[in-house]
Amino acid sequence: MTQAELIDGKTFAAGLRARIGAAVADLRARHGLRPGLAVVLVGADPASQVYVRSKNRAVAEAGMQGFEHILPETTGQPALLDLVGRLNRDPAVHGILVQLPLPARIDPQAVLDAIAPAKDADGFHVINAGRLATGGAALIPCTPLGCMLLLRDRLGDLSGLEAVVVGRSNIVGKPMAQLLLAANCTVTVCHSRTRDLPAVCRRGDILIAAAGRPGMVRGDWIKPGATVIDVGINRVAQPGEPGTYRLVGDVAFDEAVAVAGAITPVPGGVGPMTIACLLANTMTAACRQAGIDPPDLGKG
Ligand code: NDP
Repeated sequence: MTQAELIDGKTFAAGLRARIGAAVADLRARHGLRPGLAVVLVGADPASQVYVRSKNRAVAEAGMQGFEHILPETTGQPALLDLVGRLNRDPAVHGILVQLPLPARIDPQAVLDAIAPAKDADGFHVINAGRLATGGAALIPCTPLGCMLLLRDRLGDLSGLEAVVVGRSNIVGKPMAQLLLAANCTVTVCHSRTRDLPAVCRRGDILIAAAGRPGMVRGDWIKPGATVIDVGINRVAQPGEPGTYRLVGDVAFDEAVAVAGAITPVPGGVGPMTIACLLANTMTAACRQAGIDPPDLGKG
């Protein structure tokens, strides 16, 4: 039985981060420009704390300046909006990221929309979503951007390929579909009301799984030889080991490797690309704000 090639996002992301580090050193030496990313966390959600710590570590490793704002759980929306306003005006801050989820009394969209679009390192602002949809110079959400880099590295020109995206969220599915469309794929977007999902998935030369459903995409949903990008990160309990968990994707990996041409593992596939792309966005934002052409980081 043939085995799908593993798409090693961890190694690709390490290379990308090294290229970003070199580009940052060059920007500092030639332009006196040090990209800066402000990360804002409200409350003490353990998973968010882990994400924020690893983002700050990556920022420092790339030679960028990190600004950490940890606010108490009791912070209200006006205080958070006030902080975002100050970061918008701070010339040392080129990218702003507000860690989600926010406490329930804060409207996340109001906060995301308060971030200056030019500093929107996550690419979630409605202006950046609009630019992505209309072919403008957007800041692109990090996870789909990372998926595109992996796809281009493996497949080169994506023109004319059938791409199926399972999931239509604003942060993964929809921007993913826009990027594939811009790359001249024929794109189908699926969601919880899609009829005969397995048959639709089987059309994909490229299949992106971003539903948040562990192991949902089975081996016989996959077109033989397809490139499968598993975005899902799901914590599932280990059978027979109470209190222990493992991370699995949205694709039934053991079945998929026997059918697909290539597949991202979970963990070690898309996940590491997301932080690398956050750094890439921060550098792109800093260059644009300084009127400098951002370096091309796409080649692996
Ligand atoms: P959301 O919950 O926001 O969206 C899930 C999407 O999947 C929805 O559009 C939903 O459809 C669709 N969906 C859910 N169940 C089914 C089903 N049974 N059949 C078809 N479609 C279905 O999730 P996100 O987009 O935020 O994240 C998706 C996954 O990606 C999660 O596992 C998340 O943890 C992971 N993730 C990974 C990242 C990384 O760095 N690798 C970053 C971000 C997310 P509908 O709209 O109809 O409800």
